[in-house]
Amino acid sequence: MDDKIAPHLEELTRALGDLEKTGIRAEFEKLIAFRVPPDVAKESILRKFGGKRKTLKVKDLSANIKNFELTGRILDLGEKSIRQQAGTQEKPSRLYTGVLADETGSVLFSSWRELPGSIGDVINIKNAYVRIWQNRIRLSIGEQSPVSKISGSSLPPLSELSASQKKKLIDIGAADFSVDTIACVLKLSYREILVKGRKSRVISGVLADETGRLPFTAWIELPGIDIGSIIRIEGAQVRIFRGMPSINILSSTKVSSIGSDETGKLSFTFESAAKDPVPLKIQEINSRDSMFDVSIAGNLVSVRPGSGIVSRCPECSRVIQKGNCRVHGKVEGIWDMRIKAVMDDGTGSVSVMFPRELAEIIYGKTLEEAEQLMFSDVSKDAVYEDLRRFLTGRYLAVRGNSSRSEFGISFVAENAWVPEEDLAVRVVELLRRLEPDEEDGQDKSPQVSGGGIELA
Ligand SMILES: [Zn+2]
Repeated sequence: MDDKIAPHLEELTRALGDLEKTGIRAEFEKLIAFRVPPDVAKESILRKFGGKRKTLKVKDLSANIKNFELTGRILDLGEKSIRQQAGTQEKPSRLYTGVLADETGSVLFSSWRELPGSIGDVINIKNAYVRIWQNRIRLSIGEQSPVSKISGSSLPPLSELSASQKKKLIDIGAADFSVDTIACVLKLSYREILVKGRKSRVISGVLADETGRLPFTAWIELPGIDIGSIIRIEGAQVRIFRGMPSINILSSTKVSSIGSDETGKLSFTFESAAKDPVPLKIQEINSRDSMFDVSIAGNLVSVRPGSGIVSRCPECSRVIQKGNCRVHGKVEGIWDMRIKAVMDDGTGSVSVMFPRELAEIIYGKTLEEAEQLMFSDVSKDAVYEDLRRFLTGRYLAVRGNSSRSEFGISFVAENAWVPEEDLAVRVVELLRRLEPDEEDGQDKSPQVSGGGIELA
């Protein structure tokens, strides 16, 4: 009997961690006691406790995901001892850190348990999770993450995986460790900062190719490189700033200008890359973790609560309630206005945030005018109600950045306008969606019914 169930228990332990602690073993034994065949019991337990478990590739990793399985080759591995406070006692423990890669990318990891492999080996991790640490995505292997060594894996060899990956800008994501790319410098600015008490110059700007744009920061001088230069970057690091990947050029990164013989073979020129971005479908925005400097257009189908006038802490700009900042306590708040609205273009919807300058433009009232409305009305939601009446259903185009947080994708607008040129096309499209035809009309009309669309 035990011989029959032992392999299943082993498999469950590998998949779900400590069976005793989680009560899974008791559950399994109950099924066996009810004469459920061991393999059926195992499957049922896996479905019940590992139902949300998924197998991911490195490129799929993004902030705050957990309980997934991943297989990768160890590119780098080190250990350090850390003193952890356990109650009143300090207990020393070991943290193993390194880089793990598959054919889609490489990622930093940290593990509280010793790994069953070393540099070059392929390991499989279950119940892994992701943390953001020092602006980088980090794969975390915890006490409850079973790790096993895989022999005969079909993953590319160490030499191939440890080379930087050549990527177009649109494919560079949070999980990339080191990348090579060819791009054109669209924007460039210098600022002085203090690094370890010494003044040093940092260059920041925007890169573009035919697929998209990304911000960059260079911690080294870039002689001969200016706006319009097309450059090859090798071994740049990817960092995450406000949910957005950013290319970091360090002293270990190689940057060179591309000669005119080679620029002819590229799919972009400075002129094509510098053009204003063409509006994307919201569906595409929602399919990616983040997009930098893109535009979308659609109807504002609802204005979210929290829009209108808010009071901010003068120290940290957090929104405060009743003159109290979560961090700084009692403060003299500063009035600000913002609008959060849901934009829908028929392919999907996304939450768009309009900061004060844009809120004033699309609302047609300044902060001061909105304040007067707030103080002249008995309802404390006067501005929010007015915003809803005025904005719901309006058609707008916005340009800015989108990024994923635990609440889903949000878009921060940096520019907004009413696209006049395609008004006629849009009216036809709207009529088509409002008038259900025989085949597929029924399920489409609710998309626009909530907003009370008006063409202003
Ligand atoms: Zn504060």
